[in-house]
Amino acid sequence: METRYLIERLASRYDSFYLYDEQSIVSQINLLQKNFPSVDFLYSVKCNANQNILKSIFAKNFCASVSSVGEMELAKNLGLGREKIFYYAPGKSMEDLRSSYQDSVIVADSISEIERLKYLAKIFNEQIEIAVRINPNFNYEKDEGLPCRFGIDESDAVSYLEKLDELYVKVVGIHTQIKNQELDCSKINRYYKKVFQLAEKIEYAVGRRLDFINIGSGIGIPYVDGDRDVNIQWLGSEMEERISNFKITHPKIRVMLTLGRYVVGKCGSYVTHVIDKKKSHGKTFVILQNCLNGFARPAISTLADKYFSESVLAKVNTFGISTLSDSGELEKITLAGNTCVQEDLVAEEIEMPKLNIGDVVIFSNAGGYASVFSPMQFSQKKMPVQFFFTVDGEIRI
Ligand SMILES: *Cc1c(COP(=O)(O)O)cnc(C)c1O
Repeated sequence: METRYLIERLASRYDSFYLYDEQSIVSQINLLQKNFPSVDFLYSVKCNANQNILKSIFAKNFCASVSSVGEMELAKNLGLGREKIFYYAPGKSMEDLRSSYQDSVIVADSISEIERLKYLAKIFNEQIEIAVRINPNFNYEKDEGLPCRFGIDESDAVSYLEKLDELYVKVVGIHTQIKNQELDCSKINRYYKKVFQLAEKIEYAVGRRLDFINIGSGIGIPYVDGDRDVNIQWLGSEMEERISNFKITHPKIRVMLTLGRYVVGKCGSYVTHVIDKKKSHGKTFVILQNCLNGFARPAISTLADKYFSESVLAKVNTFGISTLSDSGELEKITLAGNTCVQEDLVAEEIEMPKLNIGDVVIFSNAGGYASVFSPMQFSQKKMPVQFFFTVDGEIRI
């Protein structure tokens, strides 16, 4: 396999690195655009803000979903105009709002944020078009709202928007996103259907049609054996039918989906080396270069079972481990990183092909929430390099 050969070559020169394969990104994007021809896609920049990745995705006509002014600048510098940058995030400061409202569509996350935007618009004496993130009165399982620090509760949004004087702030779109990494497409489909109903409710409150509905996405990717790919063909056909019905009454509506991991999750590998190996009280420890501080997800996910349920991290086993030097012999080991904290632990007591000092270890699924999610400044070690392998066979650093 070509990327395997590439990994071998790069591993002879670099201690630890990420390798992103553009072909994987392009295939995922083609699949989405083919099955959802009437949908405008947004890429969630926080998932992986690597320049080459962003360029590749934006070249496919994706818009940017940004969660900070810094991410907004990245998208803007790559040539995206205001109509293609959507800035959602909880807790935007006045300074964040002031420096972003001209270059992005702000998705207000709270009522006080809308009030801050009104204040700002008044100072600059203009009307700002915004969207509102809604925390709906339903979830993936039931018709029931859940407490959430993102967005405005549906009922509060409705009563606020009914009274909103739109002189300074005009609500032109809604955004919802209540779950990540869902693999059950009938649940996703039900959620999408309900978001269209929600949009009509909001339209009723504001007294006119919206320009866009950003449904979020929820679409997950298979991480472990037994996980099944979401049936994109079916979900797409359901969505297309819904949009064409909706367009009878809303001819100009723009329907958007926001995805991160589905686009880039599978494109990346994280490659590192065995630095040391030792035995202690009957256990064998294999020590790797730059784990917690290079690719943190394995360390986080070994703790996840005990402590978190944050779906961005997707719990345990969100990566595969392989090696270039498989002798066929297995060994039970504890795999850990080389920073000085107990938490820098990849896996305890697992069966792996026998590893020796100098061997190359490869983690898969390192395209999304990987490099950006790793505390690389911790312990001041040399950071992993990031390589991008283009569809034309070029390697960019
Ligand atoms: C991070 C994020 C996404 C992307 O989620 P994935 O699970 O990576 O597709 C989408 N929408 C919002 C609001 C997000 O914060």
